[in-house]
Amino acid sequence: MHSDMVLLKNSKSMYMSKQNLILCFLSLGLIMQSCAQKSVVNKDQIIKKEKAAIGNAKLETATLGAGCFWCVEAVFQELKGVESVISGYAGGNATDADYKLVSSGSTKHAEVAQIKFDPTIISFSQLLDVFWTTHDPTTLNRQGHDVGPQYRSVIFYHDETQQSIAEKSKEEVANPLWNNAVVTEIAALDKFYPAEDYHQNFYSINPNYGYCVAVINPKMEKFRKKFQHLLKTTADSESSSDKVIKSESEWKSQLTPEAYHVLREKGTERAFTGTYWDNKEKGTYVCGGCQLPLFDSVTKFKSGTGWPSFYQPLNDTCIKEESDLSYGMKRVEVLCARCDGHLGHVFDDGPRPTGLRYCINSVSLGFVKQP
Ligand SMILES: [Zn+2]
Repeated sequence: MHSDMVLLKNSKSMYMSKQNLILCFLSLGLIMQSCAQKSVVNKDQIIKKEKAAIGNAKLETATLGAGCFWCVEAVFQELKGVESVISGYAGGNATDADYKLVSSGSTKHAEVAQIKFDPTIISFSQLLDVFWTTHDPTTLNRQGHDVGPQYRSVIFYHDETQQSIAEKSKEEVANPLWNNAVVTEIAALDKFYPAEDYHQNFYSINPNYGYCVAVINPKMEKFRKKFQHLLKTTADSESSSDKVIKSESEWKSQLTPEAYHVLREKGTERAFTGTYWDNKEKGTYVCGGCQLPLFDSVTKFKSGTGWPSFYQPLNDTCIKEESDLSYGMKRVEVLCARCDGHLGHVFDDGPRPTGLRYCINSVSLGFVKQP
């Protein structure tokens, strides 16, 4: 997060660009964000059911750029047959891509959504029907106020079949749909770079955030009306906004090996080695897996253990506790309530007012500094 905060200061756009908006997000979004977990168990079951239904089907991958990837991700996540959507970057001429580099426009990467879908439920050309309708494919290197090659309209095909479907669809579906010429690029996918964690599931995690309300909401309404027949059932799409559930390979691609080991394999970082055990800055500690706000710095105390220690979480619903009998000890494990990431343990030798010590791995956390 820290390096991203630096780039926010470099924002050049006079409009409500994403860079500016992220700054708003860092300062305000967290306050607006709700930790509430509604009937998590039932919804878990629904998600598990859907995952099982998709189960062993052979999934295909589509990689599409249509402007801001928050929007593209939000749209495609709601389609039936879509198992996962990852925001990222593709199509650049540099060997590395991150938000700072891509936002500069110099690497020529496009913001894209990589969609894993079950072709027996939804076809690639149906995905393209949605694609042509939910962005403007006639504006070169631009979507609304978002301007630059990173916002270009592009289909990165994964094989020749996708290439010919894309070319045909551009001619027969997109061109009649729009008054101006469709400028969408159709190119072979070279390499896909997953975007930073805080870009993933952005709309479902931050529905009240300014850009989501102003730009994505109206778009989603139109999209849902037009493609009702292709949407997941209401119960399924609601459930996915509450819980963050990803496959192990998705977690692996998004987390550092250390973070993956601790968050997903219940590992423990070595004491006094993490980023936050001695951090005295004011701010909010968020989940390193899904960015859910978890602890306020005012509840952090010096424990001498070499791990960040808090006497209470931000609220009752953002973490969950489970008994842990590993290593011949009787401990209480602390997990993120939204993504089930392992955070650490809670002990009853903490300071007042709670008497509790939430002993948390730095690597399981992100930190949003108080502006
Ligand atoms: Zn989490």
